Amino acid sequence: MTAAAPDRVDLAVIGGGLIGLSAAVAAARAGLSVTLVEARTCGRHASSASAGGVRSLNRHPAEIALARRALELWRRAPALFGDHCGYAESSQVRVAEDEEAMAGLEARLARTRDLGWDHEKLIGRDALYARVPSLADHCRGALVVEDDGFADPLRSVHAFRRTARSLGVTIRENTPAEAVTAEPGGVVVALAGGAELRARVAVNAAGAWGAGLAAAVGEAVKVRPVALQMTVTEPVRAFVKPVIGTHGRKLSLKQSEHGTVVIGGGFEGRADLATGDSDLDFAGVTQNLANAVRLFPILADARVVRTWCGIEGIAADDLPVLGPSRTVPGLIHAFAFSGHGFALCPLIGEVVADLARGRNHGFDLAPFAVDRFAEA
Ligand SMILES: Cc1cc2nc3c(=O)[nH]c(=O)nc-3n(C[C@H](O)[C@H](O)[C@H](O)COP(=O)(O)OP(=O)(O)OC[C@H]3O[C@@H](n4cnc5c(N)ncnc54)[C@H](O)[C@@H]3O)c2cc1C
Repeated sequence: MTAAAPDRVDLAVIGGGLIGLSAAVAAARAGLSVTLVEARTCGRHASSASAGGVRSLNRHPAEIALARRALELWRRAPALFGDHCGYAESSQVRVAEDEEAMAGLEARLARTRDLGWDHEKLIGRDALYARVPSLADHCRGALVVEDDGFADPLRSVHAFRRTARSLGVTIRENTPAEAVTAEPGGVVVALAGGAELRARVAVNAAGAWGAGLAAAVGEAVKVRPVALQMTVTEPVRAFVKPVIGTHGRKLSLKQSEHGTVVIGGGFEGRADLATGDSDLDFAGVTQNLANAVRLFPILADARVVRTWCGIEGIAADDLPVLGPSRTVPGLIHAFAFSGHGFALCPLIGEVVADLARGRNHGFDLAPFAVDRFAEA
């Protein structure tokens, strides 16, 4: 829906995925006037294609604090976003299929313990099969987080968008931003068709397209667009409760309460940033399903009802670009969540809103700095 925007706002949000919507909600709640511009429709890309896993398990150490704090916000989704967003607490289990993988998980556990985190725990074979009896019998153990979860991506998009609107955010869909430049006391966002949006601060939350906006202000980042693939099966009898991942095999899997099984794991299709289109690579889909059957033989006869992909920006170090621009005062970057930004999205909005108000959000954003690629 298109609405008339005020001449100058406190915060201009570029991109109406869950990151941009979350920033709009948090900033409006903090009293800022906000206009969000979305090139297509809100949630059109990664945010609605997402698997919805809310995972603090096996996070890059730089992201653990964010992921643990984001979990608290997901639990408060009804208060924050007027809807439960389909959020359900669920353990996440990272399975080791052989001794080498088990050693990898032990090393991971030692590393996070050294950093002061104790949310992950290692379980052996017996405890693993007590939890997941349907697993193929070659597995050795797993790393587990008990209080992770998952949510419904599309439901979340609608809830975040509704909340933003109810807080007075102007949402302009089918309105691509073309450039951001500094002006005294703020920024100018040039919109397609020649219009301009003036703001004190702008946030680049353009997902896979965020790298292009950053490059246009002289901030080259090592981020590539990737079409991540997902599959969902027809309902099968209940066989697994936790969300399952594996150490050393590309697989993530969870079963819904209706019995359908959602399968992913990072297999890539083809992404076209210019058109926004993506195509499946069926060899990858086939391998992904073979991985699922290798872990869960019960799926051998399950029928696939749908496969899809969504375009996501993936950084060379698998970390988002989050923090102030170094070239345009008043511009904040929040893009390239590298395949795991859904889990963080309620929190990233708060971090962006704090940055926009010059407040200390308490997180170390140095690992996410836009100029880290140049340093490398
Ligand atoms: C298939 C798949 C499965 C995933 N599974 C998980 C998971 O289980 N757990 C997890 O944590 N994460 C997961 N992710 C990652 C997660 O979904 C993303 O990190 C997150 O949704 C990113 O949100 P975003 O708002 O940054 O990007 P997007 O949702 O892509 O939003 C960016 C928006 O910006 C708009 N835009 C682009 N250019 C412009 C412009 N110039 N002007 C205005 N608007 C513009 C786009 O149209 C788009 O709507 C998955 C991603 C995919 C694709």
